[in-house]
Amino acid sequence: MKKAEEKTARKTAERAAPRQTAVRRAAARKPESHLAMVRRARRINRELAEVYSYAHPELDFENPFQLLVATVLSAQTTDLRVNQTTPALFAAYPTPEDMAAADPEKLEELLRPTGFFRAKARSVLGLSAALRDRFGGEVPGTMKDLVTLPGVGRKTANVVLGNAFGVPGLTVDTHFGRLVRRFGWTEQTDPDKVEKEIAEIFPKSEWTMLSHRLIFHGRRVCHSRKPACGACPVAPLCPAYGEGETDPDKARKLLKYEMGGKPGQRLKPPADYPGEPAPPLGAR
Ligand code: SF4
Repeated sequence: MKKAEEKTARKTAERAAPRQTAVRRAAARKPESHLAMVRRARRINRELAEVYSYAHPELDFENPFQLLVATVLSAQTTDLRVNQTTPALFAAYPTPEDMAAADPEKLEELLRPTGFFRAKARSVLGLSAALRDRFGGEVPGTMKDLVTLPGVGRKTANVVLGNAFGVPGLTVDTHFGRLVRRFGWTEQTDPDKVEKEIAEIFPKSEWTMLSHRLIFHGRRVCHSRKPACGACPVAPLCPAYGEGETDPDKARKLLKYEMGGKPGQRLKPPADYPGEPAPPLGAR
């Protein structure tokens, strides 16, 4: 384990494994006021900011077009699989014009590793043609324009706005939705309603990084089926503590990516990433 990984694991262990949390004790006494919930939510965000100081989008990209395409391809698969697929894709079709003119069968073959490759090839062709025909081959930098592109909803648009244009956005994906409900920040399940309610809790300037932190935490610690509560750095603030494994040793074994001493999802992670880069396609 590298030094940085050891530090991350140590920090996690230090914060983890409360027996009876202050939040749960308070919840047992009386319902939490809205103001108390907002304060707790902001504290969780601050704690996660320390733990995941290196949080970032987990798709490899070098420009807005690559990020847009990679985000569309990430439906129903992992960012790792997309990152392993896009180097060959962008080498073959570097611009929207190139991709819009691609031979559909060749494109499908390149996209095969991401699953649902026929539908994804159609999406990427439509998207590229729309960029070429309506936006001069450039990805637009506004929500209004982005959601007019085929296959692009608010979630994809927010990823692109937040990470390629520096426009704050909340990325309500499956991890984000699960975590904000476990934290008791909202009871909504519709992504648009979740986005609206969470936007009222945090200042705009936090939206993009909050999204990365929640998604990082969801992928590494607070998993859908087996959350690692006993190794969770924000357990003392979480009303859902106990939904997963509370034994610290067993919980630590559930941690993923750099938290579990394993490679991350990006083949080219940012320089401050404490884990190892992901292997290229076919290496595992
Ligand atoms: S459910 Fe468990 S793992 Fe998830 S945030 Fe709460 S304490 Fe942490």
